[in-house]
Amino acid sequence: MARIYLSAPDQAGTEAALVTDAIASNWIAPLGPHVDGFEAEMCHRLDVPYALALSSGTAALHLALKVLGVGAGDEVWCSSLTFAASANAIAYVNATPVFIDSDRTSWNLDPNLLLPALDAAAAAGKLPKALIVVDLYGQCADLEPIVAACHKHGVKVIEDAAEGLGATYRGRPAGSFGDLSILSFNGNKIITTSGGGMLLGRHKPWLDHARHLSTQAREPVAHYEHKEIGYNYRLSNLLAAVGRAQLGDLDRRVARRRAINARYREALSLPGWSFMPEASFGTSTYWLTCATIDAAAFGASRDDVIAALAKVDIEARPVWKPLHLQPVFFGCRSIGGEVAEALFRHGICLPSGSGLSDSEINRVIAVIKEMKR
Ligand SMILES: *Cc1c(COP(=O)(O)O)cnc(C)c1O
Repeated sequence: MARIYLSAPDQAGTEAALVTDAIASNWIAPLGPHVDGFEAEMCHRLDVPYALALSSGTAALHLALKVLGVGAGDEVWCSSLTFAASANAIAYVNATPVFIDSDRTSWNLDPNLLLPALDAAAAAGKLPKALIVVDLYGQCADLEPIVAACHKHGVKVIEDAAEGLGATYRGRPAGSFGDLSILSFNGNKIITTSGGGMLLGRHKPWLDHARHLSTQAREPVAHYEHKEIGYNYRLSNLLAAVGRAQLGDLDRRVARRRAINARYREALSLPGWSFMPEASFGTSTYWLTCATIDAAAFGASRDDVIAALAKVDIEARPVWKPLHLQPVFFGCRSIGGEVAEALFRHGICLPSGSGLSDSEINRVIAVIKEMKR
């Protein structure tokens, strides 16, 4: 039997035709009509006027911080329960990360911690320059109060929607809430270009500046003039062709991941199992189906379940290790942290790829049910 991955790439079927078109046109370059088309189609989908296709979501975060003018001596506040990439770019620009705990209703950045902390920072004259708020595992954070609190204090918001494409918050799409927002098209994300990302926003000068920085900061003259340090961060036209095919298939992918989540919830309503809640403010894509396991009630721990699945070639993983517990970020300030720590200690991510068949999901379920005492 084939190995079952957490979130394997899933082809829409139209990729090859679009890539063949790119090759036939000889646009085998880090720009071209598919890059332009991919950006325009994503703008339309997310109802955001400007987008910049990049080589990764991490590159998009890096450029977001650069164009907001974040640098040495600045603080950037960030969700703690997330992938390290959310915060690595803070280090790239020599700023100082401060991590914020999750709430239990969405597993995302807790506005009830953020609001008083921002007020206190304002009173102390030590406001952060920006906040990176993550839409975790396909679910938006409680963005309205978070964005309002930041804007009240002049703090810029970067929405890390790498895991959130296709989700909604009060009817609006994830990736449309930040002063700048980022997406990832890494191989395990809901749509993939094998590797890629995007920066989105409504303020044209920021997107223009990011575009300039992403192409080695070349001045518009023939002789290669440079006034700033640039980066080589643009997405290839070949990969953008793959992205357009995948984006056209997004609704089916969201529907499939939600159906997989519903199947797990129904089959695994077992003692000790609690699934990641879907907050009332939005619709999750369930990019990954996550749950916490109370070992005493279930009769086996989270690690026991991961090991039992691994034995039969099924990939499951713990929930992200919070960034305030990561050795590389030791010594950084954390606002709260106990909720994220508990979710990490007991949380599991189950195979959730939109390419998984019903019989593959049933294989996962059977192994877990077998463990129940
Ligand atoms: C995947 C991911 C990123 C980074 O995206 P890459 O395209 O892999 O660089 C950033 N933030 C979160 C929350 C992610 O899951």
